[in-house]
Amino acid sequence: MIVCEKEDVFGGPTAWSSGWTWIPRNPPAKRAGIVEDADAPHTYLKNELGAHYDAAKADALIEHGPRMVEFFERHTALCFIDGNRIPDFHTTQGAATGGRSVCAMPFDGRELGALIGKLRPPLEEMTIKGMAIASGQDLAHFLNATRNARSAWHVTKRFAAFAWHALRHGRSMHLVNGNALVARLLKSAADRGVQLKTGAKAVALIRDGKRVSGARVEIDGVMYTIEARRGVVLACGGYPHDPKRQAQTFAYTPHWSAAPKTNTGDGTGMGEAVGARFDGTLEAAAAWAPVSLVPEAGGTSRLRI
Ligand SMILES: Cc1cc2nc3c(=O)[nH]c(=O)nc-3n(C[C@H](O)[C@H](O)[C@H](O)COP(=O)(O)OP(=O)(O)OC[C@H]3O[C@@H](n4cnc5c(N)ncnc54)[C@H](O)[C@@H]3O)c2cc1C
Repeated sequence: MIVCEKEDVFGGPTAWSSGWTWIPRNPPAKRAGIVEDADAPHTYLKNELGAHYDAAKADALIEHGPRMVEFFERHTALCFIDGNRIPDFHTTQGAATGGRSVCAMPFDGRELGALIGKLRPPLEEMTIKGMAIASGQDLAHFLNATRNARSAWHVTKRFAAFAWHALRHGRSMHLVNGNALVARLLKSAADRGVQLKTGAKAVALIRDGKRVSGARVEIDGVMYTIEARRGVVLACGGYPHDPKRQAQTFAYTPHWSAAPKTNTGDGTGMGEAVGARFDGTLEAAAAWAPVSLVPEAGGTSRLRI
């Protein structure tokens, strides 16, 4: 098995993200005694999505999401912190006050060995000089550090560890949020002997009759053909920096994304080239993480998350 990443680091926007995934009826919630049947999350989605609600897609998420979490917990280095105290965004019918999200558990980057150099560092704006703060309990301690002795002690220990890691390894090794998610996936893949290639840009899919049988990949300026025995998974991250497709999806307003500029929608183009159909409607939109464009002195603007 081989994973090809066109940049010189793995992770894309996932490594920048907060890493929270909305999965009702997830195993960590069940273990804490939060048990609900599928009707409530369906009702919530119906209320939130209105005309965009698609029963089959909602079913797939609500039925298979918990099984996906269970699979990762059982077979990989990925384990989760619960969102049992994180409520749904809105208080419409079917909303819950917690238990519907999970996030990767913080990870010690030293476990990656040399592979840590291939992990995209967290987004600067979401760190204190390179030290990322995990959502949930960690963040709560930082917010209460001047009011609560336990929180002050927690924050002191975090700064001390960060200083040591920066001195010893040139970066924080206490990985959190999306950075921990990618690190745990990298560790799992490496443990299983998956070949992990950076600087490897997929440029085309190879079609053999009705089947996609491989891909053409450019590595260090040389073109390789990779034949797949079992299958090819496109995971190129939607089209946040493909202006043409963006304009199709968000015709009513300009759209900016915090994703790295190199997420140019390659997967969508490769799929189309072998006969797939591009669906640019909002229901299918893959233009992740809208942000605000904040005017700055001097007439320039800067993206803010
Ligand atoms: C600051 C921030 C916070 C966020 N917080 C959350 C959150 O809490 N919860 C949530 O659900 N979502 C969140 N998001 C959105 C979420 O991160 C993205 O939707 C998600 O990470 C997209 O993941 P993906 O698997 O599609 O791949 P991506 O993470 O987009 O990765 C795609 C990878 O494919 C590579 N690639 C592209 N083209 C090629 C090619 N031709 N050949 C080889 N490699 C290629 C890219 O370089 C990239 O590394 C956040 C986003 C940001 C920026």
